[in-house]
Amino acid sequence: MSDLAEGRPAELTIDEYKSGEKPTWCPGCGDFGVLNAVYNALLAKGYNSKDVVCISGIGCSSRLPYFMSTYGFHSIHGRAMPIATGIKVGNPELKVLAFGGDGDAFAIGAGHFVHAVRRNLDLTYVIMDNAIYGLTKGQTSPTSMVGFQTKTTPSGSNDRPLNPLMLAITAGATFVARAFSGKPKELADLIVKGIDHKGFAVIDVFSPCPTFNKVNTFKAYREEVASVPANHDPSDKVAALGLANSEHPLYTGVIYEDTGVPTYEESLSKLHVGGEENRRKVIDGMLARYS
Ligand code: SF4
Repeated sequence: MSDLAEGRPAELTIDEYKSGEKPTWCPGCGDFGVLNAVYNALLAKGYNSKDVVCISGIGCSSRLPYFMSTYGFHSIHGRAMPIATGIKVGNPELKVLAFGGDGDAFAIGAGHFVHAVRRNLDLTYVIMDNAIYGLTKGQTSPTSMVGFQTKTTPSGSNDRPLNPLMLAITAGATFVARAFSGKPKELADLIVKGIDHKGFAVIDVFSPCPTFNKVNTFKAYREEVASVPANHDPSDKVAALGLANSEHPLYTGVIYEDTGVPTYEESLSKLHVGGEENRRKVIDGMLARYS
């Protein structure tokens, strides 16, 4: 784990990032651990809260920007990505973090997710994955397991769960990690790494919903999660897919990272500066890379 205190101005505390609004999540909700990790990650980076924008969609987890003193936008169902994209392209100097749940990212926002991923914007998307719709009081989500019983699937869900890590890697994400809100220090470290990565960083976080999901609990995850093997090379896409696909254990840590892809913002500026010659060079470079 990196030293989260490194580079932090002495006078800065996590109070810099707290809005003063009390979180409205149920007692024991995994999202508390994520919020705490976000505060600590920003503290580790030493950011001024006004240099940061937190974007979210809709859902329990999407309330997170209310509890931040940064700029924020609690947007609409599944639309965190287009809004984050506009903000980042409009002002690349801002640090843009997006937040949401598994329903927001992988159901109504799935189309936006894959296209934001392949553009490789320089932003960090933290997904609080609880395998259920909590805000609407407990329906299956895209990451719910087969057989999962809810009010809308009393006989158990027939749908196979989507694998967020596999989706992100195959859609072209250049940084893919998994964390567990029961390990907030590790999560804070991963958020720092995601922020430091130049490109689109996806961090899928097991964040249990104790109110409506009695299967994917803190206890269950504590028994199932394991850190990625020490000899794992995150630049090895095939090895990363293998770890992402594992069900026993469920690996946490940096699963995949490619540092060689230009960000969307860099590509845009190259396309517009330097005229036709430069534009051709950029396009040829991209064609060579992906051929
Ligand atoms: Fe958290 Fe679930 Fe309560 Fe929503 S319903 S706040 S996800 S515990």
